[in-house]
Amino acid sequence: MRSSLVDHLRLCAQFGADGISRDPDWRCRSGDVPPVAGPAEAVAGFPLDPGSAESGETLDLVRTDLGDCTRCKLHTLGRRQIVFGVGNPAASLMFIGEAPGHDEDVQGIPFVGRAGQLLTRIIEAIGLQREDAYIANVIKCRPPENRNPEPDEVSHCEPFLFRQVLVIKPRVIVALGTFAAQTLLRTKDPISRLRGHVYRYGTASLIPTFHPAYLLRSPERKGDVWEDMKKVRDLLQRGDGAS
Ligand code: URA
Repeated sequence: MRSSLVDHLRLCAQFGADGISRDPDWRCRSGDVPPVAGPAEAVAGFPLDPGSAESGETLDLVRTDLGDCTRCKLHTLGRRQIVFGVGNPAASLMFIGEAPGHDEDVQGIPFVGRAGQLLTRIIEAIGLQREDAYIANVIKCRPPENRNPEPDEVSHCEPFLFRQVLVIKPRVIVALGTFAAQTLLRTKDPISRLRGHVYRYGTASLIPTFHPAYLLRSPERKGDVWEDMKKVRDLLQRGDGAS
């Protein structure tokens, strides 16, 4: 009880006091592997055994291979620059979002706009700094008008994300929003069904949660994200987040 009060106060301080909702029936399900089509084995082209990753792979190499990418149509649709990823290359915790928005396209850094500022506060709420984590997106170029990425864009871009994951070897991956969760778990299930569970993704634990941009529109879901982030914190502290 005491710790949930402390958590609650911390949440108010870090996220703002609005709209905290709690599910009294929630139980920690760390270690659960719900039978969605997303156990890591289902991820096409994702080499699950870190030992099978190309030796000598580095983020610099992945970035070099990506180059001034023209693999999909997004390079003709107004992107200013590629937004590769940012943070600690040896991070235990990795956040994966959808695609850069306007601010990210201008600065070349993921999650720097309003949603990104909320993500920073979410990270700080579990006692970490943004720089401790690694942050990337499924898609590296801004889609016009911030529309959803299209399947051909994903299929060209996701190999670079998978390589980033293999280099970083995070123990915990947080999939931010429907798009990242569906892409990583190879499912069409909505985020509302996916969140609340911990999935195995290669050697990492994967926790889907609501996207910070959605939280800006629906602050009443911040409590759900806080529950997910407590699981992230527990996995990192217990050291069983994976590898
Ligand atoms: N939304 C995302 O999914 N990624 C960003 O980098 C910014 C906003």
